[in-house]
Amino acid sequence: MVLEICQYGHPVLREKGAPVAEITPEIRQLAADMIETMYAANGVGLAAQQIGRALTLTVIDVTPTEIPWTGQTTDGQPLAMPLVLVNPRVSAPAGDQVGEEGCLSIPEISADIKRAEQVTVTASGLHGEPLEFTCTGLLARVVQHELDHLNGVLFIDRMDAATRVSVAGKLKRMQKQTVAALKKQRAAVKG
Ligand code: ZN
Repeated sequence: MVLEICQYGHPVLREKGAPVAEITPEIRQLAADMIETMYAANGVGLAAQQIGRALTLTVIDVTPTEIPWTGQTTDGQPLAMPLVLVNPRVSAPAGDQVGEEGCLSIPEISADIKRAEQVTVTASGLHGEPLEFTCTGLLARVVQHELDHLNGVLFIDRMDAATRVSVAGKLKRMQKQTVAALKKQRAAVKG
């Protein structure tokens, strides 16, 4: 099922995700729906906050793009996409990269963002299996973007000051629209 993507101004985007305590059938279904939603929106990653759930769960698939990346599990297994990362953590950031970034929750804005060129990720897979891999390039960028979401951090927080000022008006408008839409929804539920 394709889920609705929460837009900038929705308070859930600023919530820190709670750890997934147990991988229940509901969590597996949620991950499947998140993958479907990511593909439907032509995205390369989606965090649980973006579909209204403050959980440390994210899905990623960078294979549809031409931007270079590498990914290698520490035990030499091929990295299968789409990736489902349950309770992921990033470590060993190395090097720098600057590249254009956007967000399915902030559709009108993109900007160059500085990220680590390489990171190591530890997480659980959807069957509770431990997952550890090192990645570079686009995959490292997407991982860092999605893990930010899981902490309530958005890529606009990482823009340089001048870019932030240049998009401030657009952000304000989006926030207003989202807050108005949420109010309307709540009124509809009550009425
Ligand atoms: Zn995003």
